[in-house]
Parts: sequence; C-alpha cells; structure tokens
Amino acid sequence: MIGDLSMLQDEAALGALVGKLRAVWDPVDAEQEYVTLADLDGLWSGCFLLGHAPSLTRRLTSVNTRCTVPRMTDQERLHVAHQPSDHLEVTDQGWLIGPGTEACPSARSSKLWVNETNILGIVWHYTDTRSATAMGLARRIMQMPGPGQRAASWHICIDRSGAIVQSISALLGSWHAGGASAARFVVDRFVEDARIDLASPPVKRRIWRAVSPHTGLPGANDLFLGIELENVGEVRRHGAEWLGWPFAHGTANGEPVVVPVDEIAKHTGRFYHQFTAAQVDAAQRVTQALVGKYHLVRPNCTLSHQAIDPERRTDPGPDWMDRCLPIILDQVFGGGASK
Ligand SMILES: [Zn+2]
Repeated sequence: MIGDLSMLQDEAALGALVGKLRAVWDPVDAEQEYVTLADLDGLWSGCFLLGHAPSLTRRLTSVNTRCTVPRMTDQERLHVAHQPSDHLEVTDQGWLIGPGTEACPSARSSKLWVNETNILGIVWHYTDTRSATAMGLARRIMQMPGPGQRAASWHICIDRSGAIVQSISALLGSWHAGGASAARFVVDRFVEDARIDLASPPVKRRIWRAVSPHTGLPGANDLFLGIELENVGEVRRHGAEWLGWPFAHGTANGEPVVVPVDEIAKHTGRFYHQFTAAQVDAAQRVTQALVGKYHLVRPNCTLSHQAIDPERRTDPGPDWMDRCLPIILDQVFGGGASK
C-alpha cells in the first residue's frame, strides 16, 4: 500500500504521496510507460486519493497483465485532484485522464503531419456496431492488422453509456479516414487563437479546407484526431423490427443489429440510431479537454467522415452532426459562436 485516505488531510502528506506515486508512475522508459498488476494495490489507493480510482482500476483490469498509464507532473496531479468530479484532462503525452476514461493502447498509429502545438481538430465517426462493443473494438486494434484485416484505427471511442476508451495518443495519428477517395487538405485561412493568455502573444490557428483526394496533400489521418461513437447508423423498418445495415435478415453481408424503436431518430425522411445523452455529455468533456490542451478552434472540430469521404462513408450521420454536435460545440466554445 502506498497510502491511505487519512494522508489527504494535510498537504505535506499529500506531497509525500505524490512523490511515491511518481516513483511507480514514471518508469525509466519515457516512451512506453508500463505498470504491472503488482503495482495495482499501491496505485489504486494513491489514485483513489487523487480521484482517479475508478478509471485507473478499469484500465488496469481491462488490459490484462500490462497497461499504459499516462504520466503526469506533480502539478498536473494536484490540479486534476481539485477539478469537478467529471472533469477530464489531457496529459503531456496526449492521453485523457479522469472519470470514465480508459486507455487501451493500439500499435496502429503513425506520425502526425503537425506537431503538438498545432494539433488541428476532430473528425467524427460512428462505429456501425451495437451497444457495448467499444472495448472489444479497442482490443481488436491493439495489434497491427493481420493478413486480410482492415488497417483501421482511431484515437478515442465513446460507447453508449458514455464510457471513453482511448487507443492512441493525441500526439500521434490514427487511421480513421485514409481511404483512397478521402479528401486532402489545404490551409484555407488563419484565425487568431481565442485563448486569454496575457503572457504570450496571440497565436494564429490554421483553418483547413478539404480538396481533391488526388492532390498528394496531407489527409485527415495526418492532421486530425478521429473520434468514434458507438452507434448502429441508419436503420430501416422490416416488418415489426428496425434493422441496421444490411437492413434485412439472412443476407450474405451478415445479420443486422435490431434497434429498439425508442432509440430511433428521424432526420429528413430517414431513420437513424439515436445517440445517447451520455454520449453527448462524454463527447463534450472530451472536446473540452482537447480544446483546453491544444487550443483547437471550432471550424476544425466540425468534420464528419462523410464530409471527407462522401463516396464511401455516411458516418456519423445527421443525428450527430445536426443535433448533438452543435450542442457540444456551443457548450465548449460559447453559444452560437462560429469562429
Ligand atoms: Zn468513419
């Protein structure tokens, strides 16, 4: 055991605890930070004091015997410990920490075309899967793809209960929108960073515009973070049931997911699996944390996979892009702001 609850009662004791935690949390190898289950007891009690017990415990148990734990400075730990209970932070290594987050590190990453001071924004996706599949999907992309497997990955997946699983650091690229028909990007214009920071000069942020796939310019995988949302997608009525793709039973494309009627939303004459309030809340907390860390600007957080690759993709669809995302971005950037 590293400590117990009584240690929180004075700052000096907390400082000592943080020192001990750091010894476990910050191994020699800065690139891959592993903590074994042997450390669980001490880590758990220490993290409980800092408000991270539930997410860390899940992290440790969800990745079998080894797991990556994001490294924080002492100051970051104390800062997080004094935030509201649902507050998320992004570590300097690009990992989300806070209630409801889990890390399930994937090998399927690549270098971002931009550096960490210029992480650009978010592309939104849906998983095209039933409920409670996010962790299974994350496990599937832990290793490099085998023969015949799709080389897909993403940074973060948010399940229907609002749980957040991160597979790739925000400082690396993932393979979420790299199809041959996917758009490439050019700088459209610059805007001044809206952050209030009197100590540093205003920073110009790039706003990107999609251009033809055949230009050889950087693509979404080089520039943007990919966030997946657990969702079945479009549904169609089949007798008394509402079915996801392929919208019928017994086809060669596998069995469709049956969606309960109270989870269906109608948009411009078509029907979709509705995103949950918990997903909206979690996505807002994730966006807030990313915006806080990387100073993303609103226009760079509004991209859908469909907008980038309309020939091949329809995700995440109108229920997210037209109903949920505007609410989230109004909360994060201030109501109605379009800059
Ligand atoms: Zn997608």
